[in-house]
Amino acid sequence: MTADAVQAPTDPQPMPLLQVLGLHRYFRIKPQKLFGRHDNVQAVDGISFSINQGETLGLVGESGCGKSTTGRLVLGILPPTAGKILFEGRDIATLEPEEWRATRLDLQMIFQDPLSALDPRMTIGAQIREGLDIHELGTIEERNHKVEEMLDAVVLPRSLAQRYPHELSGGQQQRVVIARALILEPRLIVCDEPVSALDVSVQAQIVNLLSDLQQRFNVAYLFISHDLSVVRHISGRIAVMYLGQIVEEADRDDLFDHPRHPYTRALLSAIPVPDPRVKRDRMILKGDPPSVINPPSGCRFHTRCPFAKPLCSERVPALKAIGSNHRVACHLVEAGEL
Ligand code: SF4
Repeated sequence: MTADAVQAPTDPQPMPLLQVLGLHRYFRIKPQKLFGRHDNVQAVDGISFSINQGETLGLVGESGCGKSTTGRLVLGILPPTAGKILFEGRDIATLEPEEWRATRLDLQMIFQDPLSALDPRMTIGAQIREGLDIHELGTIEERNHKVEEMLDAVVLPRSLAQRYPHELSGGQQQRVVIARALILEPRLIVCDEPVSALDVSVQAQIVNLLSDLQQRFNVAYLFISHDLSVVRHISGRIAVMYLGQIVEEADRDDLFDHPRHPYTRALLSAIPVPDPRVKRDRMILKGDPPSVINPPSGCRFHTRCPFAKPLCSERVPALKAIGSNHRVACHLVEAGEL
């Protein structure tokens, strides 16, 4: 072997913080009276992805595509029908109750509607401190000091600790929800539509705050949204979901500059362009998404796809790599025809 052939040792890839492998979640619905048949809502149907420490994966798609169910599965709020969720390499379904209790501290959630996520009868300070109280972490003085630190971190005055949720604006309430999640020093936060209930003027502030907090605390986000333009501001990678399946996943800039799946292209073409002189060809999709009860055969998007061919309704396209960090589930992309 020549000296040139000797390869320099490469750093081993760090283990992803979260790995989701072949995750399914079906909900059984009432049998039809006439036929006694049981149907399933296939909310999540065989998705896989991973998130590294300190990074943001944006999960985007229309309402009802399964993205919020995915968030609840990752947090262990719902059990999967099949598939695995590995947190730091360990299957969360196999953890002992004590291990799960400790892991649960590392996994927090930020909800869409901050007001309904907060208890109207508790002061802001008590709500931010609640996780520390439940888990008896630190002395009372240490917990109160931590509450002040968290209020500083989310740029709220410390005096708000004595106030109640209804006295705050929507943006301030969401900052409280963020402080309450962060006080437990989680490794991963599932942000489920965290800005969609807020005024547009406040949305950017909250997204920027989440970005700043990520830098400071090295926390990872699974950022769920129906709005690609919001997801763009915070995500390093983006996965696009349609009817319970991931149809495309790529690094943020790659997805925006070179979208390949027709559904991603349609979503991108619907984003308004601020400059009226810039013309964008809008790709209008036919109709509403089909039901997740008995979804379409083959590619689930074929009933709305302007490029669909007979094969598309016959065979399910696999999510395949088409470049580094870019995966697409489309027969025509795979064949080089799109
Ligand atoms: Fe459209 Fe066919 Fe590709 Fe599905 S597989 S996205 S129907 S072209």
